[in-house]
Amino acid sequence: MKAVDKTENEWPVPQIDPNLCDGCNLCVQVCPNHVLVLRYNLAVVAHPELCDYSGLCEQACPQKAIQRLFEILILNDEETE
Ligand code: SF4
Repeated sequence: MKAVDKTENEWPVPQIDPNLCDGCNLCVQVCPNHVLVLRYNLAVVAHPELCDYSGLCEQACPQKAIQRLFEILILNDEETE
């Protein structure tokens, strides 16, 4: 099985819509891994390599500005060994 290299953007991170974010800072406060920061009053994913995709930020956002996109992988038997 191929190892996940978080440094090459192969790891999913939450998507933040800058048109919906009002800079309330709740997602920044709730993230236990300190992945998010506010820049110019908008939340951004500053440390994607630390994200464990818990969804706490998505749940905390009152503006529904955060979405976690999922990637579905279909592996055959040879790829799972
Ligand atoms: S919780 Fe939502 S509205 Fe608040 S800073 Fe984060 S993304 Fe923006």
